[in-house]
Amino acid sequence: MIGESECMETDSVQRAAEDLFSVQNAIAFTGAGISVESGIPDFRSATGLWSRYSPDEYGTIDAFRADPIKVWKMLGEMMALVIQAQPNPAHVGLADLEKMGKLQTVITQNVDGLHQAAGSQNVIEYHGSSATLSCIACGHGISAEEVSMDNLPPKCPECGSVLKPNVVFFGEPIPFDAHSRAMEAARTCDLVLVIGTSAMVYPAVDIPVTAKASGAKIIEMNLEPTPLTNRVSDYIICGRSGEVLPRLVENLKHLMNRD
Ligand code: ZN
Repeated sequence: MIGESECMETDSVQRAAEDLFSVQNAIAFTGAGISVESGIPDFRSATGLWSRYSPDEYGTIDAFRADPIKVWKMLGEMMALVIQAQPNPAHVGLADLEKMGKLQTVITQNVDGLHQAAGSQNVIEYHGSSATLSCIACGHGISAEEVSMDNLPPKCPECGSVLKPNVVFFGEPIPFDAHSRAMEAARTCDLVLVIGTSAMVYPAVDIPVTAKASGAKIIEMNLEPTPLTNRVSDYIICGRSGEVLPRLVENLKHLMNRD
């Protein structure tokens, strides 16, 4: 049974710092939960986009191809949220861990670019990115900054067809390069910080499961226990990632300066 008793006490942040201190190749695997504190509601939450737009009608590649003008109503809202969002202390904490040499890679399911905005250099965008768009007819690529969101749907400057953000829709494969790099990272790491995700979407769940099978320690940071807890993750730190990550960084700095 999953219950609150599985949530670790706050000093588990120190345990996580000691675990990170002792490994050579740690990665982070992040999801929607890490960007909630940046003002981007989890698509699946009560205030998320999927509460008002059915994923079947708005989230699939077939729906986009059938009626891109309709789907762009949802995409326009998503892009507006992303454009105004700023990294929060959790994103900054992960960038700090990379600068400290204690985190090799961030694999994110988010399309908001906030890890890069916070300063993370090695980011694998597993579900694509909203920072660029591609023409569905001629393939022309363009930066989101160059596209006016005033008249939706945005049109290709080359051929006039509809542009699609380079995010992975339901029914689309994970970009090959992102998937192969993510799986390689999962196979070779010795610790995974799973942050703000229950990793329930296939094939994203393969990342923590593969890492676990390869012998990595899995530390989960979520608001509450998830299906990963006590099955895939070794332990969970329950709390807001924007509070937990900065404390983890401070505790780890203390350990690194001790020697
Ligand atoms: Zn075009």
